[in-house]
Amino acid sequence: MTKIADYQGSSAVANVKKALEEAKKNEHYNAILSFCEARALERAAEIDRSNVTGRLAGVPFVAKDNFLTYGTKTTAASHILENFEAPLQATAIERLEAEGAICIGKANLDAFAHGGSTENSAFGPTLNAVDETRVAGGSSGGSAVVTALDIVPFAIGTDTGGSIRQPASFNGVYGVKPTYGTVSRYGVVAMASSTDTIGCFTTNAADAELVMDIMAGRDPHDMTTLPDFFGPEAVKRQQKIGIIREFMTDDVDGEVKERVSEYVSRMKAAGHNVEEVSLPILKYALAIYYIVVPAEISSNLARYDGVRYGRRAQSATLTELYGKSRSEGFVRENKRRIMIGSYVLSSGYFDAYYLQAQKARTLLIQAFNELFDTYDVLVGPVSPTPAFKLGENSSDPVKMYLADVMTVPASLSGMPAISVPAGKTATGLPVGVQLIGQRRSDAALLALAKDLEADA
Ligand code: GLN
Repeated sequence: MTKIADYQGSSAVANVKKALEEAKKNEHYNAILSFCEARALERAAEIDRSNVTGRLAGVPFVAKDNFLTYGTKTTAASHILENFEAPLQATAIERLEAEGAICIGKANLDAFAHGGSTENSAFGPTLNAVDETRVAGGSSGGSAVVTALDIVPFAIGTDTGGSIRQPASFNGVYGVKPTYGTVSRYGVVAMASSTDTIGCFTTNAADAELVMDIMAGRDPHDMTTLPDFFGPEAVKRQQKIGIIREFMTDDVDGEVKERVSEYVSRMKAAGHNVEEVSLPILKYALAIYYIVVPAEISSNLARYDGVRYGRRAQSATLTELYGKSRSEGFVRENKRRIMIGSYVLSSGYFDAYYLQAQKARTLLIQAFNELFDTYDVLVGPVSPTPAFKLGENSSDPVKMYLADVMTVPASLSGMPAISVPAGKTATGLPVGVQLIGQRRSDAALLALAKDLEADA
């Protein structure tokens, strides 16, 4: 697979043209919803002309279509934003561009990032990069697939409950969900504000360090951002690593467990101490997530009313305008979450559901913190199975939600977690291993992954 360095030193125009050509050759994957071709070529010509020397000068990338960008639409893969042109760019995009990176197009996703397969896109699913009969994973399915297909050396996405890690694992690339607050959420379509994070897909750990270092840091437009702390780190020797017992049960696919165990053997061979750890509270993580996140979704999606922006339905009265615009503009999964969220926040149910979920969330965070008093890193699979078949889970939302069981805990607790390729199943499907660390240990996780990559 290509690395960022393979693009450096060549002409930006040539890089962009090659990426656009590759993207068009692979159009049937439905990984890209729109191109910003004219703007990309213009920026590339400018970079070639002025000899810009940014850390990503002339390197093409793709952004999930929930990042506001110039030069094309930002749809969030929904009908309600089908023709929406952003008046500003996300901070993450601005920072990448300041280093000379060039956005060539916008990647497919589950509408508003609600989902784990990209089948909830209003514009059709993305196909898995390795097996076209299977899902790309989601919600950042398109970003994972363009990276795995070598269309671009990196792509960016959002991870609210696994949307970077799970598609990274399903397509055999690196996926980084940083500590909550690492990268500004300004200019990114909000899903659940208390767990939304911005991260990247790359083909190796060093490239992920570079892209995260560029995007990270304080932004006056997002008061939850942390002061810059990223920066590549040296790997710590003899780390204490815990394998999460609850993620290695009989319900988990045998080959997934085997690949994870092999990765753990490499950790041991590299001199780290690995022990089994137990976090019994993990059994509540999905229940907490599917109360807290829909609650925040129902509130964040209230802004799409057909009045201020987005699709406006033909209607005779204001109430009808709201109703029709929203019912035509959202997909089923968006509506399901708005309904669940409104329910758990309604008077009479707020105490029973939302408040209880927030209390349980605090207990989950405490349990993680206690483990991190002893352990540097926790390890386990990213997903209980490799990529599933298209259509296999899409008619059963609960089955789909269950697939998120291993990624939502780090999201609820704001901890960094990365997905690292760990080999394939006998039939060639990629399997990812997940490394979870204490808040702000992102760079240390990547250093560990980089070190073990060298041993692979
Ligand atoms: N699959 C999870 C969900 O549907 C995660 C989504 C995300 O991280 N955006 O909520």
